[in-house]
Amino acid sequence: MLKLSNCYMPTLKEVPVDAELASHQLLLRGAFMRKVSSGIYAFLPLGIKVLHRISQIVREEMDAIGNQELLMPILQPAELWHQSGRWDDYGPELMRLTDRHEHQYALSPTQEEMITELVHNELRSYKDLPLCLYHIQWKYRDEIRPRFGLLRSREFLMKDAYSFHASQESLNQHYDLEYQAYSRICERLGLAFRPVEADSGQIGGKVTTEFMALADAGEAELALCPDETCGYAANLEVATGIAHPRAYEIEGADDRLTKLETPIEGTIAALAGFLHIDEDQTVKAFSGKDAAGRISVLFVPGDHEVNPVKVEKLLPGFMPLSDAEMEAAGLVKGYMGPVGLPTGVQVVADRSLQGVKHWLVGANEPGYHLAGAAPGRDFAVDQWADLVTVADGDLCPHCGRPLTFKRGIEVGQIFQLGTKYSESMGVTYMDEDGKEQPFIMGCYGWGVTRSLAAVVEQLHDADGMIWPASIAPAQLLIVALDPDDEQSQTLSREIGQELEGLGFSVALDDRAARPGFKFKDADLIGWPLQLTIGKRGLAAGKLELKVRASGQKSEVAIADAAEACAQLLRQMLEELS
Ligand code: ATP
Ligand code: MG
Repeated sequence: MLKLSNCYMPTLKEVPVDAELASHQLLLRGAFMRKVSSGIYAFLPLGIKVLHRISQIVREEMDAIGNQELLMPILQPAELWHQSGRWDDYGPELMRLTDRHEHQYALSPTQEEMITELVHNELRSYKDLPLCLYHIQWKYRDEIRPRFGLLRSREFLMKDAYSFHASQESLNQHYDLEYQAYSRICERLGLAFRPVEADSGQIGGKVTTEFMALADAGEAELALCPDETCGYAANLEVATGIAHPRAYEIEGADDRLTKLETPIEGTIAALAGFLHIDEDQTVKAFSGKDAAGRISVLFVPGDHEVNPVKVEKLLPGFMPLSDAEMEAAGLVKGYMGPVGLPTGVQVVADRSLQGVKHWLVGANEPGYHLAGAAPGRDFAVDQWADLVTVADGDLCPHCGRPLTFKRGIEVGQIFQLGTKYSESMGVTYMDEDGKEQPFIMGCYGWGVTRSLAAVVEQLHDADGMIWPASIAPAQLLIVALDPDDEQSQTLSREIGQELEGLGFSVALDDRAARPGFKFKDADLIGWPLQLTIGKRGLAAGKLELKVRASGQKSEVAIADAAEACAQLLRQMLEELS
């Protein structure tokens, strides 16, 4: 039994300065953690208990799908990172250091390189595949803006798993198992979540899913189909929607290309205002240069934004042109259009514009636009592509219903890597025919510390945290209002022991403090079930039970108290399974 009189838990009354989000504030106030430096935290006794419980749930779900736990070091020789090419590619987020022999190291932000090296030469035969190894280890990323406490820190605990396969089919099967395991982890942590299509970013690979804890404070924006049976859900970075931009027809202009004087600032809002039309009747232009040095102008519906993730995939290295570069290329800022662009400039247009017969576009001349510009007749489109970020009013690409938008905290992400690392690092196995083949790999990351904060972000109220019984520092708190009273001591010991005997975790507030302080502290910390033993109750043969989540209070006879607690806790745990 955790005795609070013997627990280092300096809770705070005041909201700490520079903690914006509820989870950040409450974890500090409830004495779960303390800030050491920007994005670096120490876990106090209550915090480490929760961290261990989350780790254990993650471990159980990994073990249940046949993954094997190991432990790899945080300190990684730079050599490994040179082999994969990521010493340079990872950029300033990679924490680097040099030892006394002038050897360079990285503090692990992730472990694809190390795991690949680890199995190199020792995992040799197709007969030993598939194999999935994981560990739960501290990770380091020199985030440009560490913020929101544990949600975006520079040191954080991650579970990362890596799988090795001889066929894509085998990878697909394992990916599905991870997907299900991640869903179960979310359920067991009590998280409201959605798996979403995502960008694979730095890690690489094509197929990937992010697990998003839904929260207004989340940094990720999600596009979701309102129809659960359809289930389309994607990170806005990659979401596709069906947009319906409209043509702008000038009365009496028939089918002609018409030059309009538009003496306004070259913005879409100004143009739409000037012509008294909606922004979706205009076409927006955006110029840039890709890694190969080719200049492209992108055309998208005026009411949509160009999506940088999609553009990067289509035109690797694409960077907006500076004013000077635009001028040098013969492009007119604010008035670019596809008709009469300088030769050599590639025209790339959003697919949604394919259905628009007449475009309203810049005339490549300051102060003028063209109406009635018809693709195919007045200009050629070199490439049609999905270029835009989904916007309000766009339809689900699967079922056509209007998409809805929510925010989420990415608590985990799973990836199909393919042969990216095994090829770059030359790591192979012997197939059935005795031929060397690069491993087909997958990797699966879960943020242990981030998910801890995500739970608090979802489950709290004005009084404090509301821990799910699966991961609370203890499931039952016995509040002894008169800790020196002998009957109270005997009773709390007996009830506590009985519940611990049934496998529940119990804490006892035996501190010499006022009842008001104890109740406030209990709600701040958020023990799921609270049992109060006080003088008045004892005299009447009754104890008070309170469920933190609902605030519901009830009285139980002393003799029934332990059983009543056990029953409520069982019910809470059942709801989390
Ligand atoms: P983000 O996009 O939020 O920066 P990421 O996509 O770079 O995260 P992954 O490489 O997918 O992160 O890492 C796996 C998991 O590790 C994430 O899903 C998240 O839960 C956790 N994680 C990543 N970066 C951080 C961080 N700075 N602080 C806390 N947890 C993190
Ligand atoms: Mg991620």
